[in-house]
Amino acid sequence: MSDVPELQESAGRARRTAFVRPLAVCALMLVVIASASGEPFVRLSSDSAVSMLTRLVASPAALSAPDDALPGDLVRVYAAGDAIDALELVSEDGRVVLSAPPIRLSMANIVRATAFLIGLDSTLEPGEYTLRGIVNGEAGPQHALTIGERAFRTSEFSLTPALTTLRAEPDPEKDRQTRALTALILSRDPDAIYHTGPLHWPLPATTRRTGLFGDRRVYLYSTGARARTVHVGLDLAAPTGTPVHSSGNGIVRMTEFRIVTGGTVVIEHLPGVFTLYYHLDEVSATDGSIVAAGDPIGTVGATGLATGPHLHWEVRVNGVPISPEELTERGLLSGIRPSVP
Ligand SMILES: [Zn+2]
Repeated sequence: MSDVPELQESAGRARRTAFVRPLAVCALMLVVIASASGEPFVRLSSDSAVSMLTRLVASPAALSAPDDALPGDLVRVYAAGDAIDALELVSEDGRVVLSAPPIRLSMANIVRATAFLIGLDSTLEPGEYTLRGIVNGEAGPQHALTIGERAFRTSEFSLTPALTTLRAEPDPEKDRQTRALTALILSRDPDAIYHTGPLHWPLPATTRRTGLFGDRRVYLYSTGARARTVHVGLDLAAPTGTPVHSSGNGIVRMTEFRIVTGGTVVIEHLPGVFTLYYHLDEVSATDGSIVAAGDPIGTVGATGLATGPHLHWEVRVNGVPISPEELTERGLLSGIRPSVP
């Protein structure tokens, strides 16, 4: 179901172009240009993009969005033009659950559209929600979104005294690292336009899964205490030293050995869209470098809070963790609905 742009995911701004490696087979070209205000556009150049934008322009007051979704999904919303400044997800009782910034799209610099990416947290309450566009600070076009119920597994992990200390002991350095990573995944570089298609598996797709997105976990500390948490990535078990590959074209935003997540790489693929790789034995990516989908970035390990060698693979959209697996089947910017007039 990828009826919009299997766009090729190419380069960021012109100044970065020199660093972009030749990319593997991708259907179409995608170029980034700057608007009059300096805000970059994702410029579409494909038949499917023309079709998408034409349909959007035919219904300028509408949001093109799905009618239902599940916790852990990425909801892709499109609107004609560039009038909508933000898109809010509003609960039935009127609470703004989150607000997504725009990603501007253009075709031949004439027809313009805007995409919004809404990540649905695994803990989001099922129910009736509204997607609400904000135009000049006021409520604009709206679209009803039903969020259904999704079952998650419950699992228990017994931690050794060393891992109990690592997870439970207060540590100012650990707190500093948490604040830095949180700030990073809540940041957004408007120029970071590298990847719009499906994500690639960082290890072969058949790799054994030892932890799923959304698992409700209970850590049993060696002290007898218990701690509940939600697992926000996908754990893939592989021998130490197995090469880990970038899930997409992007810019490396963090390479660090952290206390809890061990060898860590964070890559930004679109503004505010990040993949994260934890517990690496070796990190070969370098901070600030441009990577292509499939590039090696490190090797599987058991560093940090890990009970055995595995890769923790995570996707964040404007800070919200979503299920990585589904993104290997549908592009980050695909999925325009055929029902749009
Ligand atoms: Zn994990």
